[in-house]
Amino acid sequence: MLTSIVGINWGDEGKGRMVDLLSEQQDIVCRYQGGNNAGHTVVNERGKFILNLLPSGILRPDVVNVMGNGMVIDIEHLCGEIGRLRAGGIEITPDNLKISDRAIICMPYNVAQDCLEEERLADAKYGSTRRGIAPIYGDKYMKKGIRMGDLKQPDALKKSLENILDWKNLTIQKVYGAEPFTYEKMLEWLQTYGGQLMDYICDVGEYLEAAIKDGKRVMFEAQLGALRDIDFGIYPYTSSSSTIAAYAPIGAGVPGHRLDRVIGIMKAYSTCVGEGPFTAEMFGDEAEELRKAGGEYGAATGRPRRVGGFDVVASRYGVRVQGATEIAVTKLDVLSYLDKIPVVVAYEVDGKRIDSFPMGRELTDAKPIVEYVDGWGVDITGCRKFEELPENAQKYVKYLEKVVEAPVSYVSVGAERDQIIVM
Ligand code: GDP
Ligand code: MG
Repeated sequence: MLTSIVGINWGDEGKGRMVDLLSEQQDIVCRYQGGNNAGHTVVNERGKFILNLLPSGILRPDVVNVMGNGMVIDIEHLCGEIGRLRAGGIEITPDNLKISDRAIICMPYNVAQDCLEEERLADAKYGSTRRGIAPIYGDKYMKKGIRMGDLKQPDALKKSLENILDWKNLTIQKVYGAEPFTYEKMLEWLQTYGGQLMDYICDVGEYLEAAIKDGKRVMFEAQLGALRDIDFGIYPYTSSSSTIAAYAPIGAGVPGHRLDRVIGIMKAYSTCVGEGPFTAEMFGDEAEELRKAGGEYGAATGRPRRVGGFDVVASRYGVRVQGATEIAVTKLDVLSYLDKIPVVVAYEVDGKRIDSFPMGRELTDAKPIVEYVDGWGVDITGCRKFEELPENAQKYVKYLEKVVEAPVSYVSVGAERDQIIVM
């Protein structure tokens, strides 16, 4: 059984929380794209954990976690993350963590390049998290990447580091006028952090293939949402990787397999970190209230998130590109403070109403057409059955189901593991 958990919106939908919940029924949890540029927050009985690189299944003792070839891994960050989790009492061994030998290492010069470029762009910046993700994916496709498995082949590693660094320093020095990176420093960095990860690096595709044959239940968890996908998202304000479900088997290492279930995580309202078109955006007090109610500050960076009402146009599109077979609506409890809940039901572009998600200039210029639905005005964090929800909350969920054209199978009413309604 292959299940994918993906974001329907701009990210931060609560994927980490849903993976934490659903990983109970899984044997293996895989990350298949991205790096440490976003964060999952998982709250469980052992505490509150922020995961940037490690799959969420790491918090469950009997789940095996895979970091797939589609990822870009800052090994210094990974060592730090492993250390923080261990300090919190989480056991991490080569038995419960496997890192693909084909995953790309995100290097310190990629981080530097990311910062230099954002500074060069100044006001036109992309809103990068400055973790080196765009530059390292660029390097990957330029075929100038160092892979995790290279760490185990020291002679070849030294040779390719030399070649790549010569090439990279042209950009760092000649384009940006910054200090070049020395070979000795980079090799030392690779040895220091790579050395700690050696036992975890393997051909995860082979491992997964055997596990699937054996009937194991495998879950793929995405970081970021549909609208940050490099192909289908709000390009160029996207991530640099494929965040969609269809890429999950490829990025995890089992490209020949099909997904059985795609669970789309969809927030009951909208949030967006960083730059880019965000049609549903609210401003002023209205925004501040929603941001406070939802605790909308980035897990990786602490940045306040942009917020808005539920966006029918963007969410329906997100459901479609993800191929979601079912939906988990999250953070419904956050809306309890509102008498009237704003919903973006369509966009207006050049004076015309549109219902399909536009691209480019039309998206930038789109204006929201907002309608209001009745709120419920009472705390719902204690509800565990759909029937226990106030009538207007039930109506809101049914409304979301109808407009995005996919069945809702979970409703999340709080961050705790048990604050969930299973439909
Ligand atoms: P992810 O990137 O999609 O995993 O989401 P984040 O972890 O960045 O953001 C989701 C935040 O909302 C986290 O702080 C969660 O603990 C919290 N959260 C998740 N589901 C719910 C919910 O149903 N209600 C409330 N109030 N908070 C939630
Ligand atoms: Mg997040």
